Amino acid sequence: MKRLASACLALALTGGFPSPSTLAQAPAPVKAAATTPRYDFNALFDKGAADKEGDGIAWIQGGAEKETQDVLSPPSAIRLDCSKTKPEARGASVSFYLLKSKLEPFKGKPLLFRAQVKLLQGTGPITAHMRCSHVDEKGEWHHLLASRQATFKGSPGQWGALELRCMVPANEQANGIDFQIWVEKTPDPAVVLIDDPVVNVTADATDAFVSGFAAYAPEQGTAPLDLVKGGKPLAVIVTEEKPTPTVLYAVQELNEHLELCTGTKLAVVKDTDPVDGPALHVGATILTRRLGMTPELLPPDNWVVRRVGNAIVIAGGDNRNNLTPVGNTKAPFGTLYAAYEFLERALGVRWYWPGELGRVTPKRPTLSLGTVQWQGAPSYETRFCWYANHKDPEITGAMTWAWWRRMRWGGVGGDPIGMHSFNSWNKKYGAEHPDWFALQRNGQRLNNPDGSGNELGHLCYTHPDVLAAVTKEKQELFDKTPWSRYSPVMTGDSDDLYWCQCDRCKPLIRPQDGREGAHSLGMWTFVNQVAAELRKTHPDRYITCCAYASYRKDPKDVFLEPNVAVTLCAGHFPNQLWQPDVKDRYVGWIQKWSAKSANLYVWDYWNSPRYGKGVYGAPAIFPHAIQEWFLLERGRVKGHAIEWSDIDHNGESIGGWADWMFDAVNAYTAMRLLWDLDQNVDAMLDEFYTQFYGPAGPGVKRFHDAMEAAYANPNGKGGPEFAWDWNTCWVNTYPQDFVADVMGSLRDAVKAAEGQEPYHARAERTLKGFLPFENASRRYGAAATNAVTNVEVRLPTAPTPPAIDGNLDDTCWQTAVVAGGFVDSFNSAELRAKTEMRLARDDKSLFIAIRAELPDDRAKTTLPPDSVDRYVWENESCEMFLVQGVKKYQFLIGPGNIYADNYHPDLNQKFAMDMFQWTCAGVQYKAVSTGKEWTAELAVPLASMELAPPTKDAPWRVNFCRNFFYSLDPPDTKAPHWQTELSTWRPTFGSFHNVDRFGTLWFE
Ligand SMILES: [Zn+2]
Repeated sequence: MKRLASACLALALTGGFPSPSTLAQAPAPVKAAATTPRYDFNALFDKGAADKEGDGIAWIQGGAEKETQDVLSPPSAIRLDCSKTKPEARGASVSFYLLKSKLEPFKGKPLLFRAQVKLLQGTGPITAHMRCSHVDEKGEWHHLLASRQATFKGSPGQWGALELRCMVPANEQANGIDFQIWVEKTPDPAVVLIDDPVVNVTADATDAFVSGFAAYAPEQGTAPLDLVKGGKPLAVIVTEEKPTPTVLYAVQELNEHLELCTGTKLAVVKDTDPVDGPALHVGATILTRRLGMTPELLPPDNWVVRRVGNAIVIAGGDNRNNLTPVGNTKAPFGTLYAAYEFLERALGVRWYWPGELGRVTPKRPTLSLGTVQWQGAPSYETRFCWYANHKDPEITGAMTWAWWRRMRWGGVGGDPIGMHSFNSWNKKYGAEHPDWFALQRNGQRLNNPDGSGNELGHLCYTHPDVLAAVTKEKQELFDKTPWSRYSPVMTGDSDDLYWCQCDRCKPLIRPQDGREGAHSLGMWTFVNQVAAELRKTHPDRYITCCAYASYRKDPKDVFLEPNVAVTLCAGHFPNQLWQPDVKDRYVGWIQKWSAKSANLYVWDYWNSPRYGKGVYGAPAIFPHAIQEWFLLERGRVKGHAIEWSDIDHNGESIGGWADWMFDAVNAYTAMRLLWDLDQNVDAMLDEFYTQFYGPAGPGVKRFHDAMEAAYANPNGKGGPEFAWDWNTCWVNTYPQDFVADVMGSLRDAVKAAEGQEPYHARAERTLKGFLPFENASRRYGAAATNAVTNVEVRLPTAPTPPAIDGNLDDTCWQTAVVAGGFVDSFNSAELRAKTEMRLARDDKSLFIAIRAELPDDRAKTTLPPDSVDRYVWENESCEMFLVQGVKKYQFLIGPGNIYADNYHPDLNQKFAMDMFQWTCAGVQYKAVSTGKEWTAELAVPLASMELAPPTKDAPWRVNFCRNFFYSLDPPDTKAPHWQTELSTWRPTFGSFHNVDRFGTLWFE
């Protein structure tokens, strides 16, 4: 209780502390959030001892001295003097600790640490760090649970605030929080004064404040300030002499929307021009500099819109570089985002979709503002979304980029999201340095110097020259792009199949850590090595890598360098919230990785239900789950990257979705929450229905609500194999009468808005967007799974075995069993390419003949001829499956005589890529091509498989499939864009691997 009393005193003192001489006007009262506890380190300063637990705080000195002159708050401040250190070090620091015994009240709460700092001498940044960590019983420091860093670059003699905000994880082992302020390696001997360091729990994350000076900015006016009256401009926009591209774009956006809403633009003047009357100061101007509210003083993407007398300051933390905000530039654009906040708050502008129809610009010929005190910091530093493939002709690339930006897409500088980073290395180094590439089990290196194919970028990560070359590449890159902070180091895709098997690399493989951890040690050791090397020359730059595939699990024995950023691809997303235990599994991943790295990012695949199990053309609407999901990771994840599905115009190609409408609500909600996680989703959606749709709102809301409820409880299969598959989707989740009902709601919405634009057009666009859903329901929903009868094949012995030469002229094929009449996965015979396979046998072997038409005289062949066990399925090819009990064999062959086989010994276990290591002993095959078609023959020795000969009572399950690729590009196109047509003998209603849909075969 003693503490509380003094906390109140401290607040009062802070609110009225003496103005620094650089601020002429009296400070405004600090917005004192109802925050407890607040700890005042200065009050304890004289106590001295580092381990005093009495008040829950201790402080230590590191090159620091007490200072009683020239301070804001009595009785004393700390002087950090690095002029006393050796010239090569030139550093000094001071640390504060919140002691273990007092941490409980902070768990799950946002903390704000603030200190006033003043540069007495020298230049160079002052940096502060806030770390929440796990310390064991012996007092040894273990894991970072959360960490934040801030930098202050003040001019000598000026006071400024260093602020740090951090969420302390709830229900965690968090038992150590420390705050450190330091100067190091300054160009000249710096002397810094630190005064009034305080920490308090902020009321909520949006209470976050942008800058100390902003908090103490001069009194603002309260009398109405007219910016536009009766469509006439009364204000001007003020910029500096040479505005940055960010400011120019912000001014353009401000004026475009001001004109749409009020009917007039505002004149733009320079800050050296005399201004009489109201003005919007955008970015750095003489005034905003004086107030300490310029882009370079504010943390990245933190923003402030504030009235000061007759001026409205619109500024945010961004770059002073010559970077354009248009397109996918990944840098902070805080001033632009402050402009968007102004447009939203002052004018009610909204951007629900890309393009004109998606924009709301309320008409108001008069714009008059009273008190304006808006400010904020993004909930996530990094906020990226994109579409894997976007082919909606009604929404152009330029429209989508403008929209993502208006939704505050972006981050602090560069891309902290990991990516496969070595795919270009085959072309660059494959011929010259084959030994840099992964050694395969067959003794070959994966150096493929032509740079084509799928298995690029797999290196030997223990090769010293590889480490040197990667380090050099990163150093050069960062020298070239000084504003960029991140660069990836990450192996090529499907590496569990292609990991290096050399004598140095092999000991780093840990099969005992399972398919998600077998290569964690190898991958993260290498990432760490590059990061350690980079720190020597570029200490403020980061190496990024994904926790992905066979290195998804955290590497137990690797303590990551502080400049490693981790992108977690956990495989659990808000679109799976209905799965049992999915939240717990996700939190488990977050806990493990956030303990390893303070720089944790997440890559979500919100496209995933549509890619898998045949759920094509089915929307998934889940706005509330997005917030629920983000809250699970709050305080531990710095950024989110969200990959959306393909947008395929009108849903014409299987695998894509219809158009923007399918995810309009999800995309809007996700972006708003990445920017500000504390928004009320219901309020946000209510506004969407009323403002955007007007009279159509109730119908659209009924549609969305019903779709969200159905998806949240999709009536799927239970148990660990819980899936939203074809059957679940079209029979249980969205049965035909449900689809008729919800589409009826959309049609009602269109009717309700008849003659009222733009509401009617928006409702019509929404209805049109979901027509492919209705079509898909008719197509798939009508085809009840059991309506497709099983097919039984009886296979007699052939009189003479065929010669395996690829030519189908052998007599045995004339009497062989024919597997023709291929259909697509959903039993439709509307196919471009015809396929037929024939079957014969003798006592020793099973023989297969393939005839596959190529209607356009061209085939997708990216693998070198005679390739074995490579990604045949991504080339023109046919497949055969043989299944008995839980054992499954798969054979693939294609033109160029490419071949692969694999054995999946237990269908109850998940398929793993290393099952391709199985080789069918004695197999013979040959594929030949004429251009118009290709043919192949295959002889599979029965003894090479662990299958009993099939009988009527114990048959094999079999299927035959075709991977056909066609292109709509002209025939001479060098790298055509391929479309996929998957066809099959027995329709599987989804993946080729749905064995319960196979036909049966037995030997007669
Ligand atoms: Zn190796």
